[in-house]
Amino acid sequence: MNMQSSGTNSLIDPLGRRIDYVRLSVTDKCNLRCFYCLPKGYRDFGKREEYLTFDETERVIGVFAGLGVRRVRITGGEPLVRQDLSGLVGRLVALPGIDDLSLSTNAVLLASQAEALHSAGIQRLNVSLDTLRRDRFRQITGNDDFDRVLDGLMVARQVGFSPIKINMLALKGRNDDEVIDMAEFCIEHGFSLRFIETMPIGTAGRVATRHYMPLSEVRTQLETKFNLIPGVMPGGGPARYFRIDGSNSDIGFITPISQHFCDTCNRVRLSADGTLHLCLGQEHAVPLRPLLRQGIDDDQLRQTIIHALTLKPARHEFNEKPEQVIRFMSSTGG
Ligand code: SAM
Repeated sequence: MNMQSSGTNSLIDPLGRRIDYVRLSVTDKCNLRCFYCLPKGYRDFGKREEYLTFDETERVIGVFAGLGVRRVRITGGEPLVRQDLSGLVGRLVALPGIDDLSLSTNAVLLASQAEALHSAGIQRLNVSLDTLRRDRFRQITGNDDFDRVLDGLMVARQVGFSPIKINMLALKGRNDDEVIDMAEFCIEHGFSLRFIETMPIGTAGRVATRHYMPLSEVRTQLETKFNLIPGVMPGGGPARYFRIDGSNSDIGFITPISQHFCDTCNRVRLSADGTLHLCLGQEHAVPLRPLLRQGIDDDQLRQTIIHALTLKPARHEFNEKPEQVIRFMSSTGG
């Protein structure tokens, strides 16, 4: 097997992809029900004792850091519904080797937590927002919290988060007429913008594929109004970035469906229940929680993670097997 973890500090999968990034879900619970993510009325979330404790989370991330992971993004579900999230942030920031800790949120609870999270050590923020229209926000998310999201964004900017990126799912017939409005909103407030193609994850994700639109169409729309200058954004991940000429805002296109980027995948996902997912679009996974609670030591944990990497699939198969991923996006951590 050509799987390597060259001694202590790098995780390289059998296809030579170096893993230096963990998406860490701290809860599968969410205070929104975006129609492409969770079914209406869904409540079948994990139980408290099924979630990794902060001690367990810190330990697993510490072992990842010893294996060369440098970047962690906290996600969910909605991470801000997890109690004392800033306490966890402080502990992860302090881990030797972790030099980039960021957060994805829907921003509903952000206004009251922004200051504590920023002080605890998070600088980079992704906020999911698919529309700037209150009525559509309710249709898409099943919730009336649009104003709280805007408030959260403004407070986040005030307390110093930078960059702040808006993640907007491109949804034909739902928000495809807001592409330019969203770009203008981001320019006005100094945010970056990332468009994302909808993926057939879970039953809700599959229903949403009827609203799928390739981002080439979004780009064409944007180019009627803006000059997009190709560029790179630090920590940019799989998005292809452009600077909007004459502004401080970048636009990224994340195209898992029309142009996947699996050959450069650098990440794994740890779900709130302590399952290590090797690919967002496949079911290959290793449950770490039972091992942690059986008392494995750090070296055994390290070996388990190294071995798990041998399971990392070459790529997702969203196009060939759209029915394949049965778990919801909120359970894996988007
Ligand atoms: N609650 C946090 C948030 O809103 O950013 C983090 C979790 S949420 C699951 C992360 C991202 O996943 C969001 O930007 C959301 O739009 C995206 N997402 C959820 N379901 C999706 C799907 N079926 N296809 C593509 N993206 C999806």
